[in-house]
Amino acid sequence: MGVSETPGVRVRIAPSPTGFAHLGTASTSLYNVLFARANSGVFVLRVDDTDIQRNRDEYEKVIYEALHWLGLDWDEGPDKGGDHGPYRQSERLDIYKQHANRLLEAKNAYPCYCTAEELDAERKQAQLEKRAYVYSRRCLDNPPAGRTEFALRFHVPGGKVRFNDMVRGEVSFDSGLFGDFIIVKSDGYPTYNFASPIDDATMAITHVIRGEEHLPNTPYQLLVVDALGYQRPQAFAHMPLILAPDGGKLSKRKHPEANLVLYRDQGYLPEAMLNYLALLGWNPGTEREIFSLDELVEAFSFDRVQHGGARFDRRKLDWINGEYIRALDDDELLARLKPTLTELDEATLRRAVPALKTRMRTLAEARPMLEYLWTEPAPPQLADIDKERLKPAAVALSLVQGWDAMPIHDVLAQVAESAGLKPNDVFMPIRLAVTGKRISPPIGDTLALLPKEVAMARITRAME
Ligand code: GLU
Repeated sequence: MGVSETPGVRVRIAPSPTGFAHLGTASTSLYNVLFARANSGVFVLRVDDTDIQRNRDEYEKVIYEALHWLGLDWDEGPDKGGDHGPYRQSERLDIYKQHANRLLEAKNAYPCYCTAEELDAERKQAQLEKRAYVYSRRCLDNPPAGRTEFALRFHVPGGKVRFNDMVRGEVSFDSGLFGDFIIVKSDGYPTYNFASPIDDATMAITHVIRGEEHLPNTPYQLLVVDALGYQRPQAFAHMPLILAPDGGKLSKRKHPEANLVLYRDQGYLPEAMLNYLALLGWNPGTEREIFSLDELVEAFSFDRVQHGGARFDRRKLDWINGEYIRALDDDELLARLKPTLTELDEATLRRAVPALKTRMRTLAEARPMLEYLWTEPAPPQLADIDKERLKPAAVALSLVQGWDAMPIHDVLAQVAESAGLKPNDVFMPIRLAVTGKRISPPIGDTLALLPKEVAMARITRAME
C-alpha cells in the first residue's frame, strides 16, 4: 500500500443492460478503476436490471464485451462471483423485500394505496397553486379502506442531508422538499433509489463514483441508508456528463456515436480511448495529453475533475488515436492490422506499415488507403493539365534505379521542381492514376508497394 492510499476501498459500477454499451459507462468505469488501483481497492460490477420492460440478457454481455475491450476488468461481478453476491439486482429481490419490511416495522415506510389518477390530480393541483409538488401523505394520515394494491413509500424525516463529494466538496440538500418517495412499486419491484443504496451498503462499497445525473438521487439514497442503520459510503464523486457536440446529453436513443463498440469497430485503440475518456472530464493541470493507464492511475485526482458537462470531441480523439498508432512498434501495428487486411500477404503489409503509420488516425483507415494493392482502380478522369504532368513523371519513373520509396519520391520531386511546380502538382495526378484516390500513403511508398510494371501500366492508362 502506498503512503497516501485509503485502506479497504471498494468501488462499483452499476450499469443497466438496456441497450448498447454507452461511452458514459466506459468513462465511469475508468474513473472507478483509477481510484481502485490507486488505493489497491476492489472494483465491483453490479448489474442494475430491475427495469423489466427494457432489460435484456444480451445487453449485459455487450457491457462485458466493451469493458473487456478497454481492459477495465472487475474483481467481483455476476460472471466472476465474490463474497457480496448476487451481483444482479434481479437476483436480490428477497434482500430488498427484507429491507422494506424492516422499514415498515420501524415506521420509516408505509403502504400507499393511491392510484395513478389520484396522484396525477395531486400533481395538477400543485401546478395550479404554483407550488413544488410533494406527496400529500394521504395514505400516511388517512389511508383509504378496502384497497389491496399498494406501493411502499419512504417516510422522509425532513432536515438537511449533507455528504462529501470528492468533486464538489460538501453538498447539502433540504429533504423537506422531497416528499415521501416510492421505494417499492406496486408490482413488488424496488425503485432505483431504494435498491441501489441497499446494494452499496451490503456490498460494503466505500466510495460511490458515478455520473453527475445521479447527484440529486444521492440524498434520497442516504436517507434510506440512515434509516436502515447502515454506514454511509465514505464519499461520493459525481462525474461530468458526456455531452454531444451540440451541447445536449449524449443519449443512447439519439446518438449512435454514444455506442462504445463502434469505436472498436472503427479502429480506435482501447488505450487511446481510455486516454481520451480520462481527459474528457479531468485535466492533469499541465499541457500533457498522452497518458497510459498506469500513468493515469498515478496522475488522476478528483480535485481536477471539471464540474460542468464535457463535450465529446471526435477530432481530439482522432488526434490521440493517431499518436497511439504512431507510438506502436511496426510489429504491433502489423498484428493489429492483419485481421482486417486479409487480402494482403504479410510481406507487403509489413512494407506498408511504416508508411501507413505517418498518415493514420484510426486502424480502419488502412483499408481504403491500401485497397489499390488488391483492386484495380477505375481509370481516373484526369484534367488535361494533369495528364500533361504525368508525361515527364512517367519518363522519369521508368528510369528509376531500384523501385524503392525514397528514389521514387526524389525523382518525382525533381520533375516538379524542373517544371516550376509544387511537389503535390505532380504527386496528386500520379496518386490518382495509381490508386484512384486522393488519400494514400506517401507517394514514394504508394508506388513502391506495387510492382513497377503495374504502377507504370496504371500511369500509362491514365494518360490516354
Ligand atoms: N443503473 C444506474 C445507471 O446506469 C446506476 C447508477 C449508479 O451508479 O448508482 O445510471
